[in-house]
Amino acid sequence: YRAKSDGGGTVLYSPELDANTNQRFVIMAEMAEAIRNDDLVLHFQPKFDLRTNQIIGSEALVRWQHKRYGLLPPAKFIPQVELTQLINPLTFWVMKTAMIQLQSWKKQGISVTMAINLSTRNLTDEGFIEQVDRLMEQYHIEPNELEFEVTETALMNNLEQAKQQLSKFSERGIQCALDDYGTGYSSLTYIKKLPLDTLKIDRSFISQMLEDKDDHIIAKSTINLAHSLGLQVIAEGVEDEKTLQALADQGCDFIQGYHISEPIDGESFSKLYWQRQG
Ligand code: C2E
Ligand code: MG
Ligand code: MG
Ligand code: MG
Repeated sequence: YRAKSDGGGTVLYSPELDANTNQRFVIMAEMAEAIRNDDLVLHFQPKFDLRTNQIIGSEALVRWQHKRYGLLPPAKFIPQVELTQLINPLTFWVMKTAMIQLQSWKKQGISVTMAINLSTRNLTDEGFIEQVDRLMEQYHIEPNELEFEVTETALMNNLEQAKQQLSKFSERGIQCALDDYGTGYSSLTYIKKLPLDTLKIDRSFISQMLEDKDDHIIAKSTINLAHSLGLQVIAEGVEDEKTLQALADQGCDFIQGYHISEPIDGESFSKLYWQRQG
């Protein structure tokens, strides 16, 4: 086993998890039980407003507290879970847990939005929006406090159904962001036709943007493009102050990244929020 730092916790994983297919099947068999037993945990990564210099949002990122393998990052199980219907109860667990956290933060006077990552199957699931409505009612969450993050790939897998699902979010006033922008088949025609609020520039263009002239140009033109389409723009993977400054200079609206904070547990998020506020 190797130990690896992953934002607020030690992640233990065995290299065999990548190689051994049998083990993957075992993991999938255990996932249903993990959801029922609350063996999953959420970490929350702040979204930071470059104009007000305040934390204005949180993105919920799931981890699996596994009995034998320790804390598993999503890359170790989400791609497999996404291939099956199990992604529906998993997303439900994430939404419910994230809303419980948001309700608790609100009681402490913390005012942030909560973003949740969706998969293709969530966008084609007819019952999904009713689940969202019921959870919002149960935990007293307003639609404008919620945001869904969807990737281009998830959208393109079934564009028509995805579009209808996004329209239901938009009718209610739930925000919608296009995640990992620039890594999929970016076509302006469909971006324009979808009810999106925010473009999220992928980390791969941001992390080297001060050294790599092309990345810098891509970041800059994406910000302009997003704004001219009436979208807000957030950059992910900001790891230093110089990159923050460069993005602020280019008129980027929000950032996320280790420079502000790694994904952290709910209590640490609350502490950080008040530190930044003060
Ligand atoms: P994502 O939604 O694009 O999330 C951003 C990932 O980049 C997170 O990894 C985060 O920890 C990492 N990150 C953030 N800032 C920095 C930075 O400054 N530097 C570096 N090097 N990394 C940074 P994480 O938590 O491992 O999540 C990976 C992916 O797993 C997410 O990418 C998302 O696609 C997926 N995922 C996570 N939670 C969920 C979930 O609840 N449902 C679904 N469907 N997917 C999820
Ligand atoms: Mg995301
Ligand atoms: Mg992303
Ligand atoms: Mg990404």
